[in-house]
Amino acid sequence: MTRLLADRVVGLKPSATVEMTERVRAARAAGRKIIGLSSGDPNIQTDARIIEAAERAMRGGDTHYGPPAGLPALREAIVAREAKRSGVAYDAADVIVTPGGKFALLTALMGVVQAGDEVLVPEPGWVSYGPCVRLCGGTPIGISMLDRIDAAALERVVTPRTVAIIVNSPVNPTGRVFSESEIASLLAFATKHDLWILFDQVYSDLLYEGIFPTPARLPGAKERVFIIDSLSKTFGMTGWRLGALITPPGLAKTILKFIQHSVYCVPGFVQAAGITALSLFDELVPHYRKMFRTRLETAARGLSTVRGITCDIPPATFYLFPAVAAPDTAVAKRWLDEIDVATVPGSSFGSSGAGHLRLSLTCSDRELDEALTRIARIGIAA
Ligand code: PMP
Repeated sequence: MTRLLADRVVGLKPSATVEMTERVRAARAAGRKIIGLSSGDPNIQTDARIIEAAERAMRGGDTHYGPPAGLPALREAIVAREAKRSGVAYDAADVIVTPGGKFALLTALMGVVQAGDEVLVPEPGWVSYGPCVRLCGGTPIGISMLDRIDAAALERVVTPRTVAIIVNSPVNPTGRVFSESEIASLLAFATKHDLWILFDQVYSDLLYEGIFPTPARLPGAKERVFIIDSLSKTFGMTGWRLGALITPPGLAKTILKFIQHSVYCVPGFVQAAGITALSLFDELVPHYRKMFRTRLETAARGLSTVRGITCDIPPATFYLFPAVAAPDTAVAKRWLDEIDVATVPGSSFGSSGAGHLRLSLTCSDRELDEALTRIARIGIAA
């Protein structure tokens, strides 16, 4: 007889986006020429100067354990980046450098969720929120945020066991950005019920218009908001695994024990790359923004000519979330099987995403043009 694995992993839903990425990888290895519009991994080569910074650090001997909270210079650079974006001055002591934004989220949840607690998670929303809550022993409660943050809907789902709400803006999968007033109503709701807010802003550098609405700027927010951030999307550094958690003042020290006892630290040479990346922000990021925005406009225009597809241009990210007048899983399957175009059905991001597809514009412009031509040819329904 062999023992069974723990429910913690057996009961976990696989990541729909990671699985689709792996399916595309396998199909390509088998010789199929799939155009990938499914993975949130931008086709940006990490800038050579960022790579050189890592190499320099490695050759210089930074191949040892480092401080669990991260290198002081990187924590300072993260604070400076946040001050520039939101005008809010954080203390570097409240920053924990993590292996990616995903681990920043898990670290925050590890810090606030007890067994049996409920955490409100957005739908449609990133596929890892629910599973990360479950890994911490909590129960995710989905709340529809397709079009807006609906204060009345939040009141209907909150219970005495609710301890936190996860909010993502700009939103994966829709590219939406929540407005100042929606963020203010979210904070009022969290304050009324004494909830933590886990605010995932990993796409905030890919905002194309206006000033980024963040809860951190509102009075009374800092004490209950955890900020989840990452260098993955901004700099084309998904494989480096580099992100950060900014905690309410004074809490990082306690939460850091989770880092000490798990990953210990992010490699110093990866952090050295991060310091250089942030120093190149003003040079690199406007160029990436321009590239993605142009792609969103081109693709939205192309898709809108297809009967049964309605597509808006979002104000941020590299995602399109068109509505399709046919079952989303059937359309995604048909496109993959018949025209070698990989997308993700909207229902993979929660039931309120049904009837949409997520297209991630992370392939080359040439591939995107080709995908749009194929989609226009075949349409959405058989
Ligand atoms: N949050 C959201 C909404 C995401 O889409 C992702 C990546 N797909 C992450 C967090 C985590 O990204 P990373 O771990 O690469 O920083």
